[in-house]
Amino acid sequence: MVDFNELRSVVRGKVALDVPMSRHTSMKVGGRCACMFTPEDTDDILRFIDWSRDAGQKYVVIGSGTNLIVREGGIRCPAIRIKGTLDSMEIESEDSGTVRLRAGAGMPVAGLVKYCSDSGLSGIEPLAGIPGTVGGAVFMNAGTGGGSVEDVIEAVTFIERSGRTKTYGRDEMGFGYRTCRALSTSSIVVSAVLALKRTDIKRVQRKVEALLQSRAATQPLGYPSCGSIFKNPAGGVKAWKLLEEAGMRGVRIRGAMYSELHSNFIVNTGSAVAADVIALIDAGIEKVREKSGVRLELEAVIIGEEV
Ligand SMILES: Cc1cc2nc3c(=O)[nH]c(=O)nc-3n(C[C@H](O)[C@H](O)[C@H](O)COP(=O)(O)OP(=O)(O)OC[C@H]3O[C@@H](n4cnc5c(N)ncnc54)[C@H](O)[C@@H]3O)c2cc1C
Repeated sequence: MVDFNELRSVVRGKVALDVPMSRHTSMKVGGRCACMFTPEDTDDILRFIDWSRDAGQKYVVIGSGTNLIVREGGIRCPAIRIKGTLDSMEIESEDSGTVRLRAGAGMPVAGLVKYCSDSGLSGIEPLAGIPGTVGGAVFMNAGTGGGSVEDVIEAVTFIERSGRTKTYGRDEMGFGYRTCRALSTSSIVVSAVLALKRTDIKRVQRKVEALLQSRAATQPLGYPSCGSIFKNPAGGVKAWKLLEEAGMRGVRIRGAMYSELHSNFIVNTGSAVAADVIALIDAGIEKVREKSGVRLELEAVIIGEEV
């Protein structure tokens, strides 16, 4: 049995033990995390990786938990949390109207979109309204029908479980629909360079504002959720439509419910636990398969142990 207190003598960042994951996920469900480590900088990540290797410990990587559902049994291995750290941003170069901006993995996507919108930097607008960190957005290749992170990525720097730091250009990242082949579940994104176009501030602001308003009108933002639960299947059909046709809109299991406003959102109406959300996911998959023969695939990430 590894004593997680030992980690405190190895790293400089914060080590918190027995942390309720309901406080660290936007769905607000989940068991406790045995050990949550927030690194101070990239050297601290390397110390953590050395320690975890010597201790024979696996670890999980967490951004700000806006796409995570943690099972009730919690996370028994250490979690390295990037929210609240590695959150700086700097312009690396600018030529012929292209601005190369390096953003730390812990930088909130909302802050990045605001900065770009206030500075007239275009390209990142499709991410307006997507919560979470830059690292989480890269891992998930977050986006919308209008575009995703891969469209503006020039390079990504990440640390692997071996302790090696790698920088890959966009083409080496293997981005796909909400996936990124180059990253394994133990890769830790530390920063990304985005290539943006300098343009008229008002134009970028108008686009961002319109997208934020459209989200507010079509998504249940007043309730805890993790955004779209399922990916849209290939062929152009939308997951929300399949769920609606299968009669899932408004269906609930205890405190978890398919939103009335957007059927591809499961919301926590106040008292849901992870098991309710997962049972509702399974029910949605089953009903859509029966109704349309389509097998829905999860977009949200489920981690942690069964009770
Ligand atoms: C209201 C709402 C609306 C949303 N709308 C959208 C949308 O329009 N489009 C969309 O794509 N998503 C959307 N999401 C989902 C979510 O915000 C994105 O997937 C986001 O990019 C996740 O970032 P995060 O930092 O919260 O990552 P987390 O949820 O913490 O983690 C998600 C995954 O990324 C990995 N990860 C996180 N940080 C790192 C890192 N630094 N290095 C390596 N791996 C890492 C984790 O291990 C995990 O597998 C929405 C969520 C909510 C709550």
